[in-house]
Amino acid sequence: MSPAGFLIVGGGMAGAALALLLRHRGAERVTLVEAVDLPDPDQPLSPSFDARRTALAAGTLDALDEIGLLDELLTQAADITTVHVSRAGRPGVTRIRAHEEGVARLGAVMENRWLGRVLLGALAADDAIHVIAPDRVASLQRTPEGYNATLESGLELSTSLLVVADGAQSATRDKLGIAAHHEDTGEDALVANGVTEVPHQGTAYERFTDEGTVALLPMTEGRMAVVWSGPRAAIQARETAAPQTLIAELEHHFYSRLGRFHRLGAPARYPLILTRAVAQAVPGAVVVGNAAHTLSPVAAQGFNLTVRDLVALADRVATAEAPGDWALLRDWERARARDQWAVATFSRHLTPLFRQRGPLGHARQLGLVGLDLSPGPRHLFARRAMGLVS
Ligand SMILES: Cc1cc2nc3c(=O)[nH]c(=O)nc-3n(C[C@H](O)[C@H](O)[C@H](O)COP(=O)(O)OP(=O)(O)OC[C@H]3O[C@@H](n4cnc5c(N)ncnc54)[C@H](O)[C@@H]3O)c2cc1C
Repeated sequence: MSPAGFLIVGGGMAGAALALLLRHRGAERVTLVEAVDLPDPDQPLSPSFDARRTALAAGTLDALDEIGLLDELLTQAADITTVHVSRAGRPGVTRIRAHEEGVARLGAVMENRWLGRVLLGALAADDAIHVIAPDRVASLQRTPEGYNATLESGLELSTSLLVVADGAQSATRDKLGIAAHHEDTGEDALVANGVTEVPHQGTAYERFTDEGTVALLPMTEGRMAVVWSGPRAAIQARETAAPQTLIAELEHHFYSRLGRFHRLGAPARYPLILTRAVAQAVPGAVVVGNAAHTLSPVAAQGFNLTVRDLVALADRVATAEAPGDWALLRDWERARARDQWAVATFSRHLTPLFRQRGPLGHARQLGLVGLDLSPGPRHLFARRAMGLVS
């Protein structure tokens, strides 16, 4: 039985970030088990570090700065300096600008592959982080201190804190006997990259339509990441539509600001299934990231929320004498509940709120116009809408 220190199962965005945060806060040893063969950090491509883009809020950038990775990450990231939220067919726009907030950027957008390359590179550079891949947990046994894990390779590890970070369909969460609710929203998200005639100049757009949303995130080299979300059939139809059809739709919404769209890349579709574990802490183990809560990507909040969970966890356990102590873990779970509830509720109701037609929809729209006049709520709304609340 080898001592693993902290044992993290899942080397995606959440697991990799937590390993680095724990080490930065003084953890002596971290072991990370990942199911897919994590390739050379120069070419990371795993279920987490795939072809998507992620908008990182200012608070997430601060956490990445603290572990010494921000400067490198920003070399291949586009700043978000303005957020622009609108409703198709109705007047009223909500905008926030970095300079009005007194900050250099509201957030930054980078490709998941690049985020993976930098995070996995940092894991590989730290001798006290032991990455085991490809492998999975075959069985778990509770001990007085934490857990003993037997991996499918036969390797046996003992840990005082087991961290479950193996995604929404987490097999390790199931092994702990922690149930999860999976709610299929009947909606999908479709992501693709394009280049616009008029440079984005750091503006991120979120536009609500009768059917769903279309968001544009600024990227490097003048590109923009497009994220459509809406009913599955409509999104599937877009997945197979000719690029010209998608371009025509984008120009319908954004031509006045961004001109023509060029070179729209191949789209990738993600089903919107909301997952919530019934518990995120049990004696000796915690559940984090997608394994704990999976949100609609409409508001770009999932990883940003997870980073706040991880920072709070690392603060409590990194140098604790007994990191698997139930009181400590329960305190973390309780401390994170309010933020998680607020973000989940906001993400969930964002699109239906603006999709409604009729008097209620108009009332909401008046609210949107009003938001442009009232700085406090406008800022909070727009920042939340783009996942930039930290
Ligand atoms: C279209 C889309 C756009 C998004 N955009 C944003 C955004 O702009 N901003 C934002 O903050 N969030 C965004 N998100 C959310 C973000 O992607 C998630 O918060 C993030 O992926 C969570 O990471 P994770 O490591 O918990 O899970 P995952 O990314 O699911 O990674 C899980 C990892 O565990 C591994 N694994 C699986 N099973 C096992 C096993 N049995 N043993 C060991 N390892 C295992 C997998 O190989 C993988 O590496 C978006 C999500 C989607 C779908």
